[in-house]
Amino acid sequence: MIKTPILIVGAGPTGLMLSAQLHRYSAPHTIIDRKEGITTLSKALAVQARTLEQYRQLGIADAATREGFVAQNVRFLIKGRSRALIQFGEIGAGLSPYPYLFILEQARNEALLRDYIVSRRGSVGWSTELVDVRKNGTGYAGTLKRSDGNTEEFECQYLVGCGGAHSPVRHFLDMPFKGGTNEQHFFVADVTIELNVEKQGLLLAINQKEFLGFFPMSGDNQYRVIGILPPSVKDPADFPFDALAAHIHEVLDIPAKITGHAWYSGYRVHHRITDSFQSGNAFLAGDAAHIHSPAGGQGMNTGLGDAVNLGWKLAAVVNGWADAKILASYNEERRPFGVQLVHTTDRAFGVMVSPSWAARQFRTRVLPVLLGAVLKFKPLRRMMFRTISQTRISYRGSSLSDGSGSSALRSGDRFPWFEWDGGNSFNWLSDVGYVMLRLGQAVGVNIPGWSGPVVHVAVTGSAADAAVRAGLPANGVVIVRPDMHVAKVITH
Ligand SMILES: Cc1cc2nc3c(=O)[nH]c(=O)nc-3n(C[C@H](O)[C@H](O)[C@H](O)COP(=O)(O)OP(=O)(O)OC[C@H]3O[C@@H](n4cnc5c(N)ncnc54)[C@H](O)[C@@H]3O)c2cc1C
Repeated sequence: MIKTPILIVGAGPTGLMLSAQLHRYSAPHTIIDRKEGITTLSKALAVQARTLEQYRQLGIADAATREGFVAQNVRFLIKGRSRALIQFGEIGAGLSPYPYLFILEQARNEALLRDYIVSRRGSVGWSTELVDVRKNGTGYAGTLKRSDGNTEEFECQYLVGCGGAHSPVRHFLDMPFKGGTNEQHFFVADVTIELNVEKQGLLLAINQKEFLGFFPMSGDNQYRVIGILPPSVKDPADFPFDALAAHIHEVLDIPAKITGHAWYSGYRVHHRITDSFQSGNAFLAGDAAHIHSPAGGQGMNTGLGDAVNLGWKLAAVVNGWADAKILASYNEERRPFGVQLVHTTDRAFGVMVSPSWAARQFRTRVLPVLLGAVLKFKPLRRMMFRTISQTRISYRGSSLSDGSGSSALRSGDRFPWFEWDGGNSFNWLSDVGYVMLRLGQAVGVNIPGWSGPVVHVAVTGSAADAAVRAGLPANGVVIVRPDMHVAKVITH
């Protein structure tokens, strides 16, 4: 019998990040996955700035940035002709220490998180499948099955479903997953292709009817290719890779040579979200709670963000630092973002795949010009970066946010990144716990409902000047939550 305060079911990126967070706060827990180890597929490629900021708190951002690379630009290839090359390199300069779109395969992200867990003397219970769950008082009990066929019972107080789109926790607890499925068959292929374009950028190849996206991967001539299978294909199993290669050549319409592929998969894109991310003491996170099209490279990053949000709260409850009612703020804070994401990615995906005349005109004529124009204007460029990078996410409406602060910095906002000669604002956030920043003559205050660690920082000199420029009060206190969002702003 396994008795654990917290059972995490699923060790994809979301479950691994949740376990990493719990280790960061030394909160006891168990994590299992039916697989033998981390994924061997590249899967998600885009790592957003907010994810790298969260990695920085764990101390793994440097390793991540060493392993991947910055996507520098996007080239539009319209009916075989290069129509626009739009540079976006450091589009978020000044907004984040990672002001770019970063490419690092999901498998490598998972490896970094697994290694962090191991470095904290933790482990993942691989080859262990959840096969049954039932309520057990305020907690849960159930059965785990190992790959050798042996079973073991478990009891836990908190259960977290990180089992992906087919989440067993969601099924066992009968939590509805509402939404729909797109008509078209989407495909993803990791190919080796000789393309006569610079490799540090994305390539969008668009013709009257189809579009393809090429995302560079590490390794010579390695690209992730995404797109829609021709409408005549009723079942991707009937469309072998040779046929896909011919389709790719046709849409590209430039000299290119596909010499191999690591994997290829065709599937329907779903857009679904659960009514709540919480049911009693059970929680859903990542693809278990929300799935959507891969447009915008948000899926893995959103699961990681869910895990960061839930992790410190679960740790606080299990460690006796906060009352269990803090857990309700997880759904309040993460579901609204999930709803917005499912809608926006679905709309963007619809425009990219719609066969309508208007959508085709938009893709081939308007989009390259519009994107180029938007990126020329600093405010629009910054807005675009903040949206895609997930650094705009704010929890102003949460029960943990008291409305304090100004429009520049309000309770619930992501704590801003800023630098001064010899320092930066994120260095204040690297220790475990709430952070109390005191500016001017201000003295520290109590943090209601919190008995866990608090890091005190007196902000003075050029750090204080930079802080005021970033929207912090010249004389006051800013309290920052363990997940780098503002808890309270007190201005004297
Ligand atoms: C081809 C492709 C490309 C993508 N590109 C991007 C991208 O560029 N950017 C991006 O952000 N996202 C992208 N995504 C989405 C991204 O891969 C997912 O959002 C991400 O994997 C979700 O992580 P997760 O941990 O929530 O779920 P998963 O990665 O699905 O992990 C769930 C885990 O739960 C385990 N599990 C399931 N059932 C059980 C059970 N009964 N018992 C024990 N364990 C169980 C599974 O074995 C699995 O390891 C892409 C996805 C695909 C398929």
